[in-house]
Amino acid sequence: MSTSTIALAVHGGAGTIARGAMTPEREKAYRAALEMALRRGHAVLAKGGAALDAVEQAVRVLEDTPLFNAGRGSVFNADGQHEMDASLMNGADLRAGAVAGVQNVKNPIGLARCVMDHSAHVLIAGMGAFEFAHRQKVELEDDQYFFDQFRYDQWKEVVGTEVVQLDHSGKERKFGTVGAVALDAMGHLAAATSTGGMTNKRWQRIGDSPIIGAGTYANDRSCAVSCTGHGESFIRAVAAHDVHALMAYKGLSLEEAVRVVVHEKLPPLDGEGGLIAIDHHGNIVLDFNCPGMYRGHVAADGNFHTAIFR
Ligand code: ASP
Repeated sequence: MSTSTIALAVHGGAGTIARGAMTPEREKAYRAALEMALRRGHAVLAKGGAALDAVEQAVRVLEDTPLFNAGRGSVFNADGQHEMDASLMNGADLRAGAVAGVQNVKNPIGLARCVMDHSAHVLIAGMGAFEFAHRQKVELEDDQYFFDQFRYDQWKEVVGTEVVQLDHSGKERKFGTVGAVALDAMGHLAAATSTGGMTNKRWQRIGDSPIIGAGTYANDRSCAVSCTGHGESFIRAVAAHDVHALMAYKGLSLEEAVRVVVHEKLPPLDGEGGLIAIDHHGNIVLDFNCPGMYRGHVAADGNFHTAIFR
C-alpha cells in the first residue's frame, strides 16, 4: 500500500498530573520537549523516511530531557540506581527489539533498535544487555548523567520501605514514561516506548514498556500503540496487542478499540494510565483514564499540537 499521509504522535507519561503543581513555566517546558520530539520524528517522515526511524528519533529526544522518566530522567530503583526498559516494533514485518533493566545506556531505545537489527533476539536484559551495548558501541553515560534532584527526593521518601511507586504516584505526581507511534509515506506503522520504570523498584522488576504486546505493539494490518501507566496491569491486560486484536478480529475502529482497552479493560485491573495509537489511515487517538497525559501529535494539516490535561 502506498499513501501520501504521514502522521506521528508522542507521549511523556500519564497519571494524576496535579494542575496546581504545574506552573506556566513547567507546562511550557514540557510542551516544548514534546514538540521538539514531534519535530524530530516528523522531519524523518517528511523526507520519506521510515516510521521505525521516526519513532526512534522522537523517543531519543524525550530520553535526553530530564523532564521525563526515561533515559536521562529515569527514576531511582531500591539500590539508588537507574534501570531502564525500552522497546520498538515495526508494523510491516512484525520485527521487534527490546531491552530491560539496562544501566548507563544513554538511549535505551537505540539499544532496543540494535537488538532488532543486529541480534537474533527480541528482548535482552541486565548485564547481558550491557555487554551487548558495549559490543554495539552505543553511547554510555556515568551515573552522574542520570542524577536528577527531583527524582532523588522522590526516592528518598520511600527508600528503605516496601513502597514501590509509579512515577505517577509520588506526592508531586510527576510522570514520565515516553513513547511514539508513526505512519510513514509507504503506509507502514511503528511504535516505540522507553521508561525508567517505578521508583524504588527491586528484584529487577520489569514493567510493560519492553514487553511486546503489553506496552508496545505495531502491525500494519491495524495500528501502532505505545502505553504508559501501571505496568503490571498493562502486562496482565496485554494492552497494546489488545487494541490491535479488537481491530483485526472484531472490526472495531481505532477509536473504539482504544476506548474499550483504556476505559473498560484496564480499570478493573487497577490499570491507571493511557496510550497513544495510530492506524494505517493516519487516524490518531490519545486516550487515558486518569487526569492527564503529556502528549502531542502532528495533525494531517501539518500543525503540531501538544496537551497535558483533558
Ligand atoms: N508503564 C511504566 C512501567 O510500569 C511506567 C510508566 O508508564 O510511567 O514501568
